Amino acid sequence: RNLKWQMECRSDIYRHNAQFHSIYESLIPPEEEKVKQKQLLTLLEKLVCKEWPEARLYLYGSCANSFGVSKSDIDVCLAIGDADINKSEVLLKLADILQSDNLQNVQALTRARVPIVKLMDPVTGISCDICINNLLAVVNTKLLRDYAGIDVRLRQLAFIVKHWAKSRGVNETYQGTLSSYAYVLMCIHFLQQRKPAILPCLQGMRATYSVTVDDKKCAFFDQVENLRDFGSRNRETIAQLVWGFFNYWAYGHDYTSSVISVRTGSVISKLEKDWTRRVGNDRHLICIEDPFETSHDLGRVVDKFSIKVLREEFERAADIMHYAPNPCVKLFEPY
Ligand code: ATP
Ligand code: MG
Repeated sequence: RNLKWQMECRSDIYRHNAQFHSIYESLIPPEEEKVKQKQLLTLLEKLVCKEWPEARLYLYGSCANSFGVSKSDIDVCLAIGDADINKSEVLLKLADILQSDNLQNVQALTRARVPIVKLMDPVTGISCDICINNLLAVVNTKLLRDYAGIDVRLRQLAFIVKHWAKSRGVNETYQGTLSSYAYVLMCIHFLQQRKPAILPCLQGMRATYSVTVDDKKCAFFDQVENLRDFGSRNRETIAQLVWGFFNYWAYGHDYTSSVISVRTGSVISKLEKDWTRRVGNDRHLICIEDPFETSHDLGRVVDKFSIKVLREEFERAADIMHYAPNPCVKLFEPY
């Protein structure tokens, strides 16, 4: 009887794993989306270069960090060498140029925390946000993409977690829950902490890539093609990792005193960062250190209401992974 039970559990685990795999596969953007993104970027480059010949355009965010699901908007950074430019003026000028080239829904949001121009390209159907001189975002995009190149389980886990967060309404920074960027960092940190580790700490290794952006030195090991075997001693499957991830955030993380840090590949203390009390609007109720802007807590958007929502969602997800007969359905049920 015991053997029969064990066999059933085992077949459940295989079944769940296969289901998580197919959810992951269904979220991967098809190749033709990449082609359309390139097409739009080329058009934008042509328009921008007429006005600012020295400027360059970079893709960042989910269209470039390999954590983008199908039909995402694209994020573009316009890099204008001159640091003293008036961003609002440039954005308004840019909006003018784009409008006269038949791009649609062009809007300059000059007062946003990150000022941008929004647009929709009627040819490819892609929507796009353009920001100015936000090169740190371009560099953290590269860091995320390089981590994704080490072990496929990171991309699988992050797709599942992002899909869960969107389905459950906890991927809304304006409502006090976390950004996609924060969730991906949580996944990287989690895989750095597995025993044996599935991911290394790239910023703790010999730097093969180094740039200075806004006086911050950003350096890390980026020859990730040499690290393809790094996680091979750990045989955990995607279903086990999804369970482990939610279990960690539901029952394992010390919210009172810990900060997760991809930069150091470990957990560090709130005390060390002086993140122990509320300063202005930063409450530090869940602490996620930005890998380059180390004074930034990506959990700073979380308030005393949304922390409850988040933790209840982590517990719900962990319990589903533990007890539900069909976790792959229940996990993503709309809230
Ligand atoms: P989605 O698929 O939900 O659009 P995304 O990867 O584009 O996900 P966002 O959270 O929209 O993620 O952020 C876009 C990019 O902006 C990130 O990849 C990151 O480079 C940068 N970014 C976002 N939030 C921050 C932040 N608080 N600090 C620094 N960089 C950030
Ligand atoms: Mg985005």
